[in-house]
Amino acid sequence: MTFEYAPAPESRSIVSISPQYGHFIGGKFVAGTKHFPTINPATEEVLSKIACGTKIDVDAAVKAARKAYVGTWSKMSGKERGKYLFRIARIMQERAREFAVLETLDNGKPIRESRDVDVPLAAAHFFYHAGWADKLEYAGLGTSTKPHGVAGQIIPWNFPLLMLAWKVAPALATGNTVVLKPAETTSLTALLFAQVCQEAELPAGVVNIVTGDGSTGALIVNHPGIDKIAFTGSTEVGKIIARAVASTKKSVTLELGGKAANIVFDDAPIDEAVEGIINGIFFNQGHVCCAGSRLVLQENIADEFLEKLKIRMNKIRVGDPMDKNTDLGAINSQEQLLKIRELTIAGDKEGAQRWSPECALPSKGFWFPPTIFTGVTQGHRIAREEIFGPVLSVLTFRTPQEAIDKANNTPFGLSAGIWSEKGSRILWAAQQLRAGVIWANTFNKFDPTSPFGGYKESGWGREGGRHGLSAYLKGVSHE
Ligand code: NDP
Repeated sequence: MTFEYAPAPESRSIVSISPQYGHFIGGKFVAGTKHFPTINPATEEVLSKIACGTKIDVDAAVKAARKAYVGTWSKMSGKERGKYLFRIARIMQERAREFAVLETLDNGKPIRESRDVDVPLAAAHFFYHAGWADKLEYAGLGTSTKPHGVAGQIIPWNFPLLMLAWKVAPALATGNTVVLKPAETTSLTALLFAQVCQEAELPAGVVNIVTGDGSTGALIVNHPGIDKIAFTGSTEVGKIIARAVASTKKSVTLELGGKAANIVFDDAPIDEAVEGIINGIFFNQGHVCCAGSRLVLQENIADEFLEKLKIRMNKIRVGDPMDKNTDLGAINSQEQLLKIRELTIAGDKEGAQRWSPECALPSKGFWFPPTIFTGVTQGHRIAREEIFGPVLSVLTFRTPQEAIDKANNTPFGLSAGIWSEKGSRILWAAQQLRAGVIWANTFNKFDPTSPFGGYKESGWGREGGRHGLSAYLKGVSHE
């Protein structure tokens, strides 16, 4: 007997969305000049109008951040800075439901994920870094470290609030001030965060938020008043930023794309591995830089494994992100949907076999069903390029060395997964894999204490943990 789920919609009444927003500069909301609509990708409803930051806005934000750095923040003791971070973390927890609902409306991700992952982790990043603010000399990074000054931070749309927390918390804990630009399609939780800064009575100008598109991001990157750039997004834009700062004194960290291999050996606990593969690629609609988008599967268990994977995929509930039962929400934008479609059509044309469970997709909004491709070879575009959607490419191997060779055959190196019951095999494989984060018998586990970042085209530097602090400090010696 199958039990059907009754709808369990979250109420949106907790959030109040203004019809139009400006920027947050020098502790105040200031009007923008041009605006663009931000929509709910699950319904295409216009939620609000967002200001597109111009040179004048970026100049004003950098000036406010400099003033706050020189006049207040760099003079304040770590203990006092820490108090503000603790306060921000607590307010985020108090307003957690509001943040979760707003994130889901603006981004399209299931409320279950924004409520249970994004918002608690964002608050955890502030708590963790609040603890470091007065203990930096004990972080093993040297005793004469200094903040860079004003940090320009540019974040993507896949984890809007969480990426803000990854950037703002370590910057503030180490004594930097911030000019942050959220992604064009997902600015609303950053603007709610600005209200939290006001509520926490954070000194004016310590955090400035300038909304806008890529051109606003470029203005921040190229601004002479910025001392450090922290970027998360595509490898393509990361390369543009690396070129732009190459001839300057700006310090830079880049968190870019990935094409992670999730390797399943024939001695793996199969049911757990199936669950891990599902989580690895379908969490957050696959809009995850470290998503396990390539399943590298030992050939002798491939048939049994794929059968179980398909049975499990049949149970994925796709639809209204505000429904607490939903597993897979909306694709964040029409542009991203077109990119996913283009790459999957390339998969068909290059000869891979596509499979999706039967699922009715809503008629409005941007949707893509959970999809796997079998018969994928290493030359296929779907094995090489970041699809950034709910699409898994399955490759097979016969020997452990072949698994490693296939996993490493990518210009990226952000993350990898290993599924095996043998500890020795896990340790051997982890040493061979060229990836910044490696999970064994689990996937997509995030923690503020743990450094995150990649090799090769996946970026430079680490975020989180002690390593992440060093990116916001000058004169660091790694002891
Ligand atoms: P982008 O790299 O274009 O966007 C990331 C951020 O950078 C956004 O805030 C964006 O602004 C901004 N930006 C864009 N151009 C510039 C520029 N020249 N200088 C400074 N900042 C800039 O990613 P997209 O959103 O366009 O997504 C494209 C692809 O990137 C995806 O399909 C996916 O494959 C990958 N991606 C990877 C992510 C990751 O975490 N690894 C995250 C997001 C995307 P705006 O959004 O306003 O244009």
